[in-house]
Amino acid sequence: MSAASPVVPLVPFHDGHSIPQLGYGVFKVDPAAAAEMTTTALEAGYRHIDTAKAYDNEEGVGRAIAESGIAREDLFVTTKLANGSHAFDDAIAACEASLEQLGLDYLDLYLIHWAAPSQGQYVEAWKALVELQKRGLVRSIGISNFPVPQLTEIIEATSVVPVIHQIELHPYFQQRELRAVHAEHAILTEGWGPLGQGKSDLLENTVVTGIAEAHGATPAQVILAWHLASGFITIPKSVTPSRIVENLAAAELELTADEVAAIDGLDREDGRGGADPADR
Ligand code: NAD
Repeated sequence: MSAASPVVPLVPFHDGHSIPQLGYGVFKVDPAAAAEMTTTALEAGYRHIDTAKAYDNEEGVGRAIAESGIAREDLFVTTKLANGSHAFDDAIAACEASLEQLGLDYLDLYLIHWAAPSQGQYVEAWKALVELQKRGLVRSIGISNFPVPQLTEIIEATSVVPVIHQIELHPYFQQRELRAVHAEHAILTEGWGPLGQGKSDLLENTVVTGIAEAHGATPAQVILAWHLASGFITIPKSVTPSRIVENLAAAELELTADEVAAIDGLDREDGRGGADPADR
């Protein structure tokens, strides 16, 4: 990390641990390129990496971590339980396998990747994550892509509240109802697809480009600064080194309250770009 690396705030979980608010996501980063890309991110100053068993690149991420020389306690590593491993014993084994791939002896955060209501095993999977935390294999446990009924059900079944919920989230899809449920339980909101995954004209939206011009920033930085100003955890992905650096620098961009409100106004009824978690 150079002396000029942006400072990323740490946001506290309700379990006493905390998470760097901006991280590097590696969805669709080719397994063969994962080590190089993760090294680029770590050298730029990222200290939070978001991967998943399903991305097939944990090994490369782990190699970059091992070669970085960065102290383990200075890094925050998230991975996710794949849909096919929700049965209790399978989930325990899947976490051990992810640790092995990553070359780590604990995870900072383990998430159930999708509730997958049609499989009907998300409560069992959550009980396995509670057990993994008890055993010390993971520091914090959370969920991803849970509809509200399933989110409520795992809390009622275990009395253990996820620290975070990772959901599709960007200016065209702001998930206000789900965020209100998070607020009731002190669950942090983490956005995947923070830049809209390149599936819409979000980066060319004139509200966004106008704010970018006013700050001498890029549209991607403005959107990421909006996530940060809104209190979300954000994990943009890029395989372009200059954009990896650019995205981290969004931590230094401060929007005015009016600019945040203008981006709040971009929410759309049909803004979802990815799969609906209720349908899996
Ligand atoms: P994203 O919104 O981060 O979009 C990534 C794309 O945006 C890049 O491929 C690139 O085309 C473009 N981009 C990135 N930086 C840019 C810049 N500075 N300027 C212009 N274009 C830029 O989407 P994502 O990768 O799907 O989401 C981020 C991370 O969230 C993933 O890498 C992954 O870690 C996580 N994720 C989780 C889930 C889940 O189900 N939990 C699903 C998708 C993604």
